[in-house]
Amino acid sequence: MGVKRVIVFDTTLRDGEQTPGVNFNSRDKLEIAYQLAKLGVDVIEAGFPAASNGDFEAVKNIADYVKGVTIAAMGRAVKEDIDRASSALKNAEKSRLHVFIATSDIHLQYKLKMTRDEVLKKAVEMVKYARGKFDEIEFSAEDASRTDWDFLVKVFSEVIDAGAHIINVPDTVGYAMPREYGELIRYIRNNVPNIDGVIISAHCHNDLGLAVANSLSAIENGATQVEVTVNGIGERAGNAAMEEVIMALNTRKDYFGLVHGINTKEIYNTSKLVSELTGIKLQPNKAIVGANAFRHQSGIHQHGVINNRLTYEIMRPEDIGVVPDTFALGKLSGRNAFELKVRQLGYNLSPGEISEAFRKFKDLADRKKTIVEEDIRFVVEETIEEFRSFREGEAWA
Ligand SMILES: [Zn+2]
Repeated sequence: MGVKRVIVFDTTLRDGEQTPGVNFNSRDKLEIAYQLAKLGVDVIEAGFPAASNGDFEAVKNIADYVKGVTIAAMGRAVKEDIDRASSALKNAEKSRLHVFIATSDIHLQYKLKMTRDEVLKKAVEMVKYARGKFDEIEFSAEDASRTDWDFLVKVFSEVIDAGAHIINVPDTVGYAMPREYGELIRYIRNNVPNIDGVIISAHCHNDLGLAVANSLSAIENGATQVEVTVNGIGERAGNAAMEEVIMALNTRKDYFGLVHGINTKEIYNTSKLVSELTGIKLQPNKAIVGANAFRHQSGIHQHGVINNRLTYEIMRPEDIGVVPDTFALGKLSGRNAFELKVRQLGYNLSPGEISEAFRKFKDLADRKKTIVEEDIRFVVEETIEEFRSFREGEAWA
């Protein structure tokens, strides 16, 4: 057996669109879908065609134009939703229905007002109804993490018999703990008798800040598909963030030993596009794609990184497609170019400080081939600090 591959299912356009205040138009959705295909996701969940005509059109557009990737559409376990999904996906290169029904007692009792037997029957009936209308059928047991494990096993085994290719185990309300969720995935893998050849999928929400941890735990325990969104957007506190799951798998390849189809160099572009089109700015300390994710503040850290990045960096900005800004500044740069760059970075130095910072910069440029923004900040901040302590010294003298 070769190296195991994780299937990346992106639901930025479906669960991500359930972010409060976010409403993509059809053109935004198409633009994001093209970028997701470029990023290398395996499946794009394009929307929920039965929800509105707009959503139907958006899914159809993506299925018509975005190729080289599976296009999924969501629907409830009712014929109308399945029919709408099927006609929206008609021209998809590879189509997937994502059909769901809740399985937890709390949802059965208060939302569906159905018994377990009724839910089981409905699930099987609708998977059978969908069979042949799509290339693949994914069945989701909504609120799986709060469902009785043995009932879940029973539902999964019967929908697999009915024709489901992928079974999804959502932590719909972000309630599970990493070890517990991993154990659930393992329980399903070990107890669903016809699980061989079926993809087990993790879908985690971030209500307790554990969506990524839970997704990784699921992967460790046998999940072969992970459902993610760009920047972690989604219903309430959001979903597992694509960039965090992927960079964890990459940075700790030694630990997971898994491969995936994502071109990490497209992560930054994708994140920026989604942030622009949703109007949702990232917190500066957001892992991987936040503005501060690769900035070092402490002087000790800066010294370390300038000497060798491995001292304090476990990833390189280039890995996610951030082009290191070299400013075309090097040892041949003059004082004016340097001064301009310093101002562009937001510093306002006295002539004395500029002279000193420039001297330090020349010194550094002699030792280092490429000068990046971080280097400039470093010499400038060191200079400011020296001048301040000098002034303080004078005041005390
Ligand atoms: Zn969800």
